[in-house]
Amino acid sequence: MVDYHLHTPRCCHAEGTPEEYLAEAERKGLREIGFADHFPLGLLDYIPRAQVTMNSDELEGYIGQIEALKGYSAQVDIKTGIEVDYLPGTEDKLADLLKDYRFDYVIGSIHFMEDWDFTHPVYADSYRERDLNKLYQTYFKLVWDLCRSGLFDIIGHIDVIKKFGYRPVSDLEPYWTETARVLKETDTCLELNTAGRDAPVNEFYPHKRLLEKCFQRGVPVTMGSDAHGPVQVGRYFKEAAELLKTTGYKELAVFEKRVKRSVSF
Ligand SMILES: [Zn+2]
Ligand SMILES: [Zn+2]
Repeated sequence: MVDYHLHTPRCCHAEGTPEEYLAEAERKGLREIGFADHFPLGLLDYIPRAQVTMNSDELEGYIGQIEALKGYSAQVDIKTGIEVDYLPGTEDKLADLLKDYRFDYVIGSIHFMEDWDFTHPVYADSYRERDLNKLYQTYFKLVWDLCRSGLFDIIGHIDVIKKFGYRPVSDLEPYWTETARVLKETDTCLELNTAGRDAPVNEFYPHKRLLEKCFQRGVPVTMGSDAHGPVQVGRYFKEAAELLKTTGYKELAVFEKRVKRSVSF
């Protein structure tokens, strides 16, 4: 199995050294891991209220640190990834920036709507004041725009809008159908992100129904624990692998220098 979504303390809300994450991956028998820490939002001229990413001057050091770890383990392949916020309007700037760095893959994620960090526990109360039907509509429009930007290899925690358990009354089936279609059309890889099991919603991202639709469409999938500490590496992966198998998936997508291939699991 592969875990493509590991953080480092550079983002200011994770702990443990990359070596400790690697040791945990070895202990859990993972074949491949990838670090995907939060891309510095300062480089996109965005300063959120709470610091949730590394600083702009740390990006080179981050890449260097992960590159230095490659070949360190006989058992686990190590990849250099990054998790980038999709912020509408920053596409050209981001495309320019990404050209300068040697990533194996880029995860696109949505954590912000307007200036609201809706994934941050400190701001979760704000869900109570929102029209949840409208909120989900806005969120999924962003998901589709993210995919269509063509900037990202993988979409991270695709339905993270459910993180705190706020759900709309409207039927989500049309969203799942359209999302699977857009992922396929834009050749964006889905991430089965297990972190949601430790969030109030207590579910993986994505919803089982979306996973099924993606499989039916032939959308590739990879796995990520979204670990913000070494013990979280590969969390719930046995359960996640079972889910993928019962859904029909036999292969996981892996990336090297932004080229995708499939491996059995
Ligand atoms: Zn984080
Ligand atoms: Zn994220």
